Amino acid sequence: MGVHECEICQFHGEAVGSANLYIPFDGNIYVCPELITHYINAHLYSPPSIFCDAVLACPPMNSMGYKRLLLACNGQVLWKPPSE
Ligand SMILES: [Zn+2]
Repeated sequence: MGVHECEICQFHGEAVGSANLYIPFDGNIYVCPELITHYINAHLYSPPSIFCDAVLACPPMNSMGYKRLLLACNGQVLWKPPSE
């Protein structure tokens, strides 16, 4: 949905993000804005425990294990076919 800047930040707008993170876990895919790490570190946001479990169990996002787990959680719906 475009670039987003943290709207509650007292840190002079340093936090900007535009991507989403996809966390496959237990048959589901959790999606969150990349700024979640900023919200956790700077604003003490505490995600739901199931999300934390998913992150801790997730293989590195550029690994084959991550890609296989994403597909096992029906992640193929996230890929757009190449346009012709
Ligand atoms: Zn902030």
